[in-house]
Amino acid sequence: MQAIRLLGVGDLQRQEVAVPEPGPGDVVVQVEAAGICGTDRHLFHGEFPSTPPVTLGHEFAGRIVAAGAASGGRVGARVACDPNIFCGICPECRKGRVNLCRANVAIGLQRDAGSADYALIPGHPAPPLPQGMTPEAGAFAEPLACTLHGLDVARLVPGERAMVLGGGVIGLLAVQLARAAGAEVMLVTRHPAKRAVAEALGARLTAASAAEALRLWPGGADAVIECAGVEETMTRAPALAARGGRVVVLGVLAQGARVSWEPFDLLLREVAILPAFINPFTQSRALELIANGTVQTAPLVTRRISLTDAPAVIAAPPPPGDIKTMILP
Ligand SMILES: [Zn+2]
Ligand SMILES: [Zn+2]
Repeated sequence: MQAIRLLGVGDLQRQEVAVPEPGPGDVVVQVEAAGICGTDRHLFHGEFPSTPPVTLGHEFAGRIVAAGAASGGRVGARVACDPNIFCGICPECRKGRVNLCRANVAIGLQRDAGSADYALIPGHPAPPLPQGMTPEAGAFAEPLACTLHGLDVARLVPGERAMVLGGGVIGLLAVQLARAAGAEVMLVTRHPAKRAVAEALGARLTAASAAEALRLWPGGADAVIECAGVEETMTRAPALAARGGRVVVLGVLAQGARVSWEPFDLLLREVAILPAFINPFTQSRALELIANGTVQTAPLVTRRISLTDAPAVIAAPPPPGDIKTMILP
């Protein structure tokens, strides 16, 4: 079978590897759709820790073709991948903060994932796809689960103003979740095509810049949700929050990157900075929100490629207007 292997920083190749055999707790999934994530590009550039050689692709769905006796999986069933395998016994896991597990093993970072014809994953946390869901929609379970954690942290209540920074896939999922929470939503991105998608998905307002956003909402937003993961928006985010507001950090800056905020301003206006990391127990809700139509994923798929094209696509910066590229093995 073919797999997209990260061999080291800057070295990504399509290789022929053996089809995996399941251990007692594992399932082997024939991958039907795998999304390319910004994290894959961070891994390629060495900006996010991983342990190569490793097959990339932590956002995928497919059909179980082999199941270990204790896996709980059923051959023929469609599942998504929950890429984070927490240990269950460290102090954070014992407090229920499994996304902070200090022994977490992430599929696609520390062990092989789904940018391949087949993937070996633990059967236990692999969430089954609801009846009739396409594998492509199922591949959004992971990014939506992460975004959902961010919205849980934001604690929006109906009638509040939510400003989403960044029009990539996380930003456009956040727009839909904030709308579903009853907030009035503004998306800020310089890309006109992404503003149009956001308006179609429930954003009442869009802005091309932070300055334009503040002209539209001079008092700022109750919740600013940073989904761009770039220094400029991360730096500006607190200034876009209302007095007593909060900034939710979902965007991933490269490890080691720094931004400057003014603690005096954060203190006097009581603006909270709230990071939201990965997906603690949010995958099933994410799949439910896709299944019941609250969150649309089809408008977010802008490109479909083969495994052959994947190394070059991951190595290159995303083209303007690109939202989600799906690998269809
Ligand atoms: Zn991802
Ligand atoms: Zn743990």
